[in-house]
Amino acid sequence: MDAFEPPASAEKLYEGKAKILYTTDDPEILLTYFKDDATAFNAQKRGTIAGKGEVNCAMSQHLFRLLEGQGVPTHLVDCPTADTMRVRRVSIVPLEVVVRNIAAGSLCQQTGLELGTPLDPPLVEFYFKNDALGDPLLTDDRLRVMGLATPDQVHQLREMALRINQVLSDFFDQCGITLVDFKLEFGVDDSGRLLLADEISPDTCRLWNQAETDPNRRVMDKDRFRRDLGDVEAAYQQVLQRVLAQSF
Ligand code: UDP
Repeated sequence: MDAFEPPASAEKLYEGKAKILYTTDDPEILLTYFKDDATAFNAQKRGTIAGKGEVNCAMSQHLFRLLEGQGVPTHLVDCPTADTMRVRRVSIVPLEVVVRNIAAGSLCQQTGLELGTPLDPPLVEFYFKNDALGDPLLTDDRLRVMGLATPDQVHQLREMALRINQVLSDFFDQCGITLVDFKLEFGVDDSGRLLLADEISPDTCRLWNQAETDPNRRVMDKDRFRRDLGDVEAAYQQVLQRVLAQSF
């Protein structure tokens, strides 16, 4: 059950697997509620991670502020409560932009690259955000044919993703965490400007504890849930603690 009570005037616009989006009194601003619900493998696996909503909200806020300071525009306005974020209304580009510094997950499964292989320069990939189609990997030509983003937008998305990777990799390194890979989503505002949207959290990043060498013990992200590694809540709290302790 969803325990969150939105303001009486709020209208539910969209409910996703991990978040619910509501209108606010300001038509330019929406309210995102971060749920504790967790899904994996295109929602074939479902569960709850206690405290996840608050971790993902707080961590996203911290990292969005860090990125704003580094010249990356984001949709963040503020967080009125621990598990809600007010965001600028944008039209979401239906792409998942994945950046990889180290081979893991689907890249290993699909290419045979060994887990842990360093990727330098980092890999930037575009996936079509479409659950019914299973979020397929797109080529540049498919992107063009599908008209999901203009060639100029694709270029900008790639540049922004690489810049975000630089900032986040350095930041996580200072937290004693290796940023293995992560997924970004972007939106376009009324003036056509691309803004970083969605969230940056242990749900959307692979994060390895630099103090651990064991391939299972080092995992601090949603792979603990995906692969039934245990101590999921503790790992999420540990990431948040380290992130919030690291000022910028
Ligand atoms: N990711 C995500 N949402 C998705 C797919 C991937 O947040 O729908 C993140 C995932 O957590 C990882 C990165 O994107 O940090 C790369 O995921 P990958 O393609 O390896 O897929 P997975 O192994 O998670 O199925």
